[in-house]
Amino acid sequence: MKYTSIKGMSDIMPPASAAWRKLENTALTVFGSYGYKEVRTPMLEKTELFIRSIGSDTAVVEKEMYSFKDQSDDMLSLRPEGTASTVRAYIESGAYQAEAVAKYIYIGPMFRRERPQKGRYRQFHQIGVEALGIASPLIDAEQIAMCDHFFKELGLKDYSIEINSLGCKECRPGYNKIFGDFLTSKKVHLCGDCLRRIEKNPLRALDCKNPACIEAMKDAPLIGEYLCGDCKAHMSEVQKYLKELGTKFVVNQRIVRGLDYYVRTAFEFITTKLGSQNAFGAGGRYDGLVKELGGPDVSGVGFALGVERILLLMEEGGLQLKEKEALVFFALMGEPARERLVPIIDKLRQDGVYVELDYDNHSLKSQMRRADKLFAHTVVIIGDEEIKKGVAIVRNMHTKEQEEVKFDDLVRHFVRVD
Ligand code: AMP
Repeated sequence: MKYTSIKGMSDIMPPASAAWRKLENTALTVFGSYGYKEVRTPMLEKTELFIRSIGSDTAVVEKEMYSFKDQSDDMLSLRPEGTASTVRAYIESGAYQAEAVAKYIYIGPMFRRERPQKGRYRQFHQIGVEALGIASPLIDAEQIAMCDHFFKELGLKDYSIEINSLGCKECRPGYNKIFGDFLTSKKVHLCGDCLRRIEKNPLRALDCKNPACIEAMKDAPLIGEYLCGDCKAHMSEVQKYLKELGTKFVVNQRIVRGLDYYVRTAFEFITTKLGSQNAFGAGGRYDGLVKELGGPDVSGVGFALGVERILLLMEEGGLQLKEKEALVFFALMGEPARERLVPIIDKLRQDGVYVELDYDNHSLKSQMRRADKLFAHTVVIIGDEEIKKGVAIVRNMHTKEQEEVKFDDLVRHFVRVD
């Protein structure tokens, strides 16, 4: 009897395993410099967790989960994605009581019973991050820019970044109604799945790959003009920060995402090099999910990258990874300080300096407390006065000495050029 692995599930053997290890280490280093700390959660969870978070009428939950009853009659599922488990662990550990902001990275296998093909497997691997407790649109933009840096570090070139706003519980129902009416008017052209979506979740029809549906949806009403004022403002702030961060993106109002929990920002990393599997990473904002799963009412933003697809892209481009070894806390007071310093912070991170900052305008005292907790060796303090003078106060947390450093000299101050 010769045993083989299960269809769509592969062994990772040397020498390929070395490339996997390097990719994972690079992700831990790059994302680590933005403050993301590793979490490892079980691969099995109660099925209910995924139904509640991902949504009962999504393809993942309806058709793709590996679920079974164990000997105690508990309904369990192999995790099909990482956000639900990470949020569950965040709530269960009470991490939010100790820290207002939590940033997590996870790496590991996910399971979906899809039709296997190049770039699509039944056990696949994701590198994902979640930022919990940050309301500012800066974090949405920062995560997108962070991925962009990661991909550049890997040497990837042929990809684009697409962003959209999916609205919120205030404005999405109105759009859903308009879009549902549009779908109804196109009924004769739609596939069975899209006909069912009219009632349950019309938006998802925009994701249908059926050529007749794509054609029918060509002049569909798009969400942009139906967004409420808050969602519009959030979207324009995300774009403003992306521009400040120098990250190129396009707005694609047809991105809807396959999971129910997204609100406002959604984004995808798209390539033309992987055939029909054109997205190799995706994410967005999921305010409301933590509360829905029994936790505090805090915001969430995260993404997941497909390891196999990234490695395929690297192979395609003949790329090999060189590993690079890799806290400075920025206490920023007021929007002018943030606007001025965000590009500098970004440059530092790109140069491998681990930088953390305050996103939501806390008092200087509370920011200094957080810097202490994070064991920052240096705190850079900037308020309106410093903005006027064009200098930052750089405080050594060990000696408590302070000096003034011109904004233009900050990167050089922290990055040694040999
Ligand atoms: P999702 O969780 O569906 O947003 O997917 C995020 C990323 O995971 C995708 O962009 C892919 O890179 C990867 N991915 C999702 N499903 C699969 C699969 N069945 N096989 C391989 N990679 C996948």
